[in-house]
Amino acid sequence: MAAAESPGEGRMMEKIVSLCRRRGFLFQSSEIYGGMNGCWDYGPLGVELKRNVKDAWWRDMISAHDDISVLAGAPAAFEMVGLDSTILMHPQVWKCSGHYDLFHDMMVDCRESKKRYRFDQIRGRWVEAKGRRAFVAVIADADAEQEVAHARAMKFFNLRGKDADKLVWDGEFISLEDVGEVEEVLAPDAKTLGSLTEPREFNLMFQTNIGAVVDVESTAFLRPETAQGIFCNFKNVVDSSRVQIPFGIAQIGKSFRNEITPRNFTFRVREFEQMEMEFFCHPSQSSEWYRFWRDRRMAWYQAHGLSGEHLIMREHAEDELSHYSTGTADIEYAFPFLPPGSFGELEGIAHRGDFDLRSHSEGKLDPNSNPLVVELGENGKPKYKGSGKDLSYRDPVSNERFIPHVIEPAAGADRAALAFLCEAYCEDEAPDDSGKLQSRTVLRFHPRLAPTKVAVLPLVKKDGMPEYAQGLYRELKKEFPVFYDEKSAVGRRYRRQDEIGTPFCVTIDGETLSDGTVTIRDRDTMEQRRVKPDEVVEIVRRAMRT
Ligand code: ATP
Repeated sequence: MAAAESPGEGRMMEKIVSLCRRRGFLFQSSEIYGGMNGCWDYGPLGVELKRNVKDAWWRDMISAHDDISVLAGAPAAFEMVGLDSTILMHPQVWKCSGHYDLFHDMMVDCRESKKRYRFDQIRGRWVEAKGRRAFVAVIADADAEQEVAHARAMKFFNLRGKDADKLVWDGEFISLEDVGEVEEVLAPDAKTLGSLTEPREFNLMFQTNIGAVVDVESTAFLRPETAQGIFCNFKNVVDSSRVQIPFGIAQIGKSFRNEITPRNFTFRVREFEQMEMEFFCHPSQSSEWYRFWRDRRMAWYQAHGLSGEHLIMREHAEDELSHYSTGTADIEYAFPFLPPGSFGELEGIAHRGDFDLRSHSEGKLDPNSNPLVVELGENGKPKYKGSGKDLSYRDPVSNERFIPHVIEPAAGADRAALAFLCEAYCEDEAPDDSGKLQSRTVLRFHPRLAPTKVAVLPLVKKDGMPEYAQGLYRELKKEFPVFYDEKSAVGRRYRRQDEIGTPFCVTIDGETLSDGTVTIRDRDTMEQRRVKPDEVVEIVRRAMRT
């Protein structure tokens, strides 16, 4: 077998995007109308992949969680429950959470193209020609930056192809944030210099209005994270479900952020799904719980196929932490669209102290004050009043009353699915029907994440093979997603399944009809062995469990 190509090499991302479209993992939203930036639809295979990612998370957090044993690395046994809160919430929630005031990005507008960009995402390079100097700004993937900048500079200086050497590049690509002379900047979609405005703040929350009247009173927001629904229901859950601290509440759901420059496929989008868990514990144990969750979440990604040098845990330095937090770590993945050696965030695990429950109770806390106190407005009164509800917890054994500390692992389902896709993508060689080696594309998903678990293939469309295969297909279909295919040569059918990551192909051939065995082919090793048809379910289940 030829050496497999790994993410980061060549035009890997382009190939992945093209496969996703061609085989029905992802489509641009509203494509028939020209597309909607920052929004992606999951096709028939993509929806299965993302559901499997979310199911694997939910299983690990809730349904398969052992409430009664002390897990390795945990300070105590703990309970886990789920929640599904609404996207629309009382506007006061976002004031007390800090999103209303703080959830913004710096952005710049282009007066010429009328486009808006996130300030920190514009990069560019200085160039000189014909006695003039310009900073050519681009928004492009790292491996395409120079190509895009070159083409723009040629056009700007009105040079022909043969005069390319007249361009004198100065220094490497740098962020627009590091450029002082804005009047010499050629904005990403402009033809003239100096069209960008000064950076301005821009709130990332989508606004809407509730009810028939559109005014300040009716303004509401689409949630930018699922976590606040959990904090607001903390007391409801404690009072209704008999959970005792330490315990966690987990939720999966849509979140919305009006990202200024959505990009990199589904990595940064405007509508996405989060998998968030708030873990409530006694303040004296919160540091231990933080370390437990940080390590457990890293292990979850590794167990599902992300490993090696593509996955890292980046612990925030002490001076990056808010003073009420004793730790924050990001789990990051080396996505192929990033420059070599760079990583993108998959999940953040944060020790949040008692910030959230106290804010929702007393009023918005000032995150910069130490000790935390309610933030005051210009009139000397609380800037945003809290709910006034007591969100403390009374320990039923010791009778101690305290505000729990919170550990928050916050993950994105779309980013996780994208990382699993990128990691799974691989090119190698496989023999065709004549035994000749041909290149093949294979998605080496963990069997639990693979959209289809088994393909059932009659070798030929005669001699009772299709009928036998269809019977087996119906049996397997009771257990998991299965695909039936009787069209074209069997080698081509294997290849089609490899390309969508189906872990097993079961072939019905002449021997099946005489001795009742079928061939089961492993996607990764391409090894084939004969088994009894009723062994197939267990083989697949075992692979999904590992
Ligand atoms: P970033 O710095 O990349 O904008 P963040 O630190 O703001 O992310 P969090 O608020 O911690 O992200 O959200 C938790 C998780 O939700 C992120 O780790 C990511 O997986 C996911 N997420 C956040 N914003 C987006 C987005 N615009 N598109 C897709 N997923 C997102």
